[in-house]
Amino acid sequence: MSKRDYYEVLEISKSASADEIKKAYRKMAIKFHPDKNPGDKEAEDKFKEAAEAYEVLSDEQKRARYDQFGHAGVGGNGGFGGGGFGGGGMNMEDIFSQFGDIFGGGGFGGFGGGGGGRQQVKGSNLRIRIKLNLEEMVNGTQKTIKVRKMKMAEGATSKTCPTCGGSGVQLKVMNTMFGQMQTQTTCGTCQGIGKVADKIPAGANAQGLIKDEEEISINIPAGARDGIQLNVRGKGNDAPFGGIPGDLLVIIEEEIDRTIKREGDNLHQELYISFAEAALGTKKEVPTVGGKVKITIDPGTQSGKILRLAGKGLPSIDSYGKGDMFIHINVWTPQQLTKEQKDFFEKQMSSGEMVAEPSGKEKTFFDKVKDLFN
Ligand SMILES: [Zn+2]
Repeated sequence: MSKRDYYEVLEISKSASADEIKKAYRKMAIKFHPDKNPGDKEAEDKFKEAAEAYEVLSDEQKRARYDQFGHAGVGGNGGFGGGGFGGGGMNMEDIFSQFGDIFGGGGFGGFGGGGGGRQQVKGSNLRIRIKLNLEEMVNGTQKTIKVRKMKMAEGATSKTCPTCGGSGVQLKVMNTMFGQMQTQTTCGTCQGIGKVADKIPAGANAQGLIKDEEEISINIPAGARDGIQLNVRGKGNDAPFGGIPGDLLVIIEEEIDRTIKREGDNLHQELYISFAEAALGTKKEVPTVGGKVKITIDPGTQSGKILRLAGKGLPSIDSYGKGDMFIHINVWTPQQLTKEQKDFFEKQMSSGEMVAEPSGKEKTFFDKVKDLFN
């Protein structure tokens, strides 16, 4: 693959000043930063390309060589192999360490410092799912759950890493044609922790960790939604020797409720009443997330009528309001009749007294749907 011209990459002229180079790189780095373009391979390549161009052009000596010999002069096309810089040999860590000087100080969030030194090692995260019913999701709840995790084994001891002397890093001096270069890498023996295992009790792994169980109490705040993830800090797997434990990631799942359906902040439920209840009227209790509510069924209620219980839905996520509960009334037609019932209905039918008499003002299905949104 042929390399693009470094000046072209940073979109600057060959006579650009050091300041212009810095500004141009800053612009590119922000535009193609992986945090801004997650999962975008092309952006990542552009990001690396810009970093490489900046590394060369920001260094007077390297820039002079590049101007004279092109990519070959700075190890670009493999001409000098194994080189200390350029040539695609940069990794992300090197690039982020550049930010120290270009962005003045901490650089981008999450990549602070850059320089290296002993790393704070973090245990791995654990992921669990918790099923909640609608009421628990709306009102919040507390759950105590047994979690299997890796914990530091009792009696496990550590000692200073013999390879790096506890610093967590290894320094390597490389001779290049431009002089000696010192590079700093994470210690391969202790993976940057600075400590290694000394005594390991039976059953524990090489890092002194052992499988264990812990009861963890999880506070679920009111207003949870299906699929959201709560982060319980420090309740994941332990880190070896003095590191900080990982986090426990709790994914909320909504239990399927057969009687209540949600639609945004509104709730819907079907209510079945008997033929007699529809004709004569009655009172019914319906469950809502705030407890049971008594509703009145008027005499002559038609199947398909929808009652609205204002404010009995879910608390709105983005306002202080609450949704509504809609009760969909279904009149249950008897499927088996006793002898007396059959006689009664036959009499009604032959006398012509009990007939459907729509006035024309009844709401159609579409009217009702429209009403729900008004
Ligand atoms: Zn070490």
